[in-house]
Amino acid sequence: MVNTPAARKSAASLLMVPALASSAVVAASASSATARPPGSPSPDVRFVPGAASAGDAYFPAAGNGGYDAGHYHVRLNYRPNGRRIAATTTMWATATQHLSSFNLDFVGNQVRNVTVNDLPASWRRAGQELTIIPKGGLRKGSRFRVAVTYDGSPNGRRSGWIRTRDGAVTLSQPQGSATWFPLNDHPSDKATHAYTITVPRGLTVVANGEPVRARQQVRRGPSGREGARAPGTTTFRWRSQRPMAGYLAMIAIGRFKTRDGHSPGGIRTFTAVDPSVERNIAWFQRETGRVTDWGVRTFGRYPFDSSGGVIDDVPVLYALETQNRPVYPGRAGLRLTDTRLIVHEIAHQWFGDAVSVRRWQDIWLNEGFATYAEWLWAEQHGGPTAAQEFAKAYARPGNDAEWRQATGRPGRKGMFKYFPTYTRGAMTLHAVRVAAGDRAFFDILRTWAPSRTHGHASTADFVRHAERISGRPLWPVVHDWLYKRGKPARPAQPKGMARTGPN
Ligand SMILES: [Zn+2]
Repeated sequence: MVNTPAARKSAASLLMVPALASSAVVAASASSATARPPGSPSPDVRFVPGAASAGDAYFPAAGNGGYDAGHYHVRLNYRPNGRRIAATTTMWATATQHLSSFNLDFVGNQVRNVTVNDLPASWRRAGQELTIIPKGGLRKGSRFRVAVTYDGSPNGRRSGWIRTRDGAVTLSQPQGSATWFPLNDHPSDKATHAYTITVPRGLTVVANGEPVRARQQVRRGPSGREGARAPGTTTFRWRSQRPMAGYLAMIAIGRFKTRDGHSPGGIRTFTAVDPSVERNIAWFQRETGRVTDWGVRTFGRYPFDSSGGVIDDVPVLYALETQNRPVYPGRAGLRLTDTRLIVHEIAHQWFGDAVSVRRWQDIWLNEGFATYAEWLWAEQHGGPTAAQEFAKAYARPGNDAEWRQATGRPGRKGMFKYFPTYTRGAMTLHAVRVAAGDRAFFDILRTWAPSRTHGHASTADFVRHAERISGRPLWPVVHDWLYKRGKPARPAQPKGMARTGPN
């Protein structure tokens, strides 16, 4: 995520369906049918409730334990009249313990029905916890499928399901997705996603992943449009076949101009703009492709099947790195000269999306890297060097309150503060660059995300990686920059290291 310039000025694996769908049902019903009739206690195993938390100290209610989500399919109808949604979300998952019940994160809306492996299940709600009690329990290791049917008029305002003039867009960092679909809402549990979204004719749906065209209903035209399902409506299908953290799930409903093409380097690039806030889609498409190709040269293989972006009239002051396709709030200040903003969000595809934080405390691994990507882009495209950006930030006096927040321990409230998390995060990377030398540093950057694509990382993982690639001890440097309250010492090149320029 990053605030738009306007805001800064004012303030600061593989898809598992349908093969798994049928095998999950067979496996689960077979095990419960042979062991005992549904609902009867098991003689040999003890079923216990799954945890109501993923154990993240910053967001204790976020995520859940006892299962591993593999795939979500959100089937959703949107009606502008009353801005209502009616939806069924299905999650395919594997039990990681004997489960008597398990939780999903879900807020608002009215739950109408819940099934587990096609059998009715009971449920209760408290806060953001939707607790589901399947008949007979779920054995450890069994795959299961839970379907939740619900409706409502979600209104996340600044996060989650956000209404726009002509529809809605979902922007959910760190935990807004639960406003529009039930999920295990913590980045530690990634899953693939599919969306089947039905909207009134004339509106378009853009989402993560790639558009799916039903083979027999191919039509000319943009974006996975598969043809009218009911009179006056159009159904759009999108599928993200690469694992994704729940907060990165994005659908945008509205009037859009779209472009589906490839970057000069051959990466599929899909962009959309709301013509009421941005008309120059050609520029947006070209620049997104150019930045994506630069990312490949700088950060290694592109981690997903497509790139892109959406400019919409979202009433927020931040852009967000929703997977494949960041969203930029056109109304709030994205200007056509803001390639840096595109650089920031596209860099997140490697840092944050492909490699996700295991716990929110390490958010600098996302924001520090995306900010340093801006510095590198400027350095390589005629702007100030990263060293100059560093010097400018370092000029902040030592008694300035901004130095007091430790970048690696920001606290829940400090996670998205610009200087401590973004700027000092980028300065941390620059300190690593000075200590490791340019050659090793750029090797570290190019190998970090590819070594953990679709996985997770902690700060310790990154430092180990950087030390292995560079052959130098980097913990002392990183420690001062991340965990020391106060202004760290200016980074110095180790003695005997040959001076190299940026490459
Ligand atoms: Zn960001």
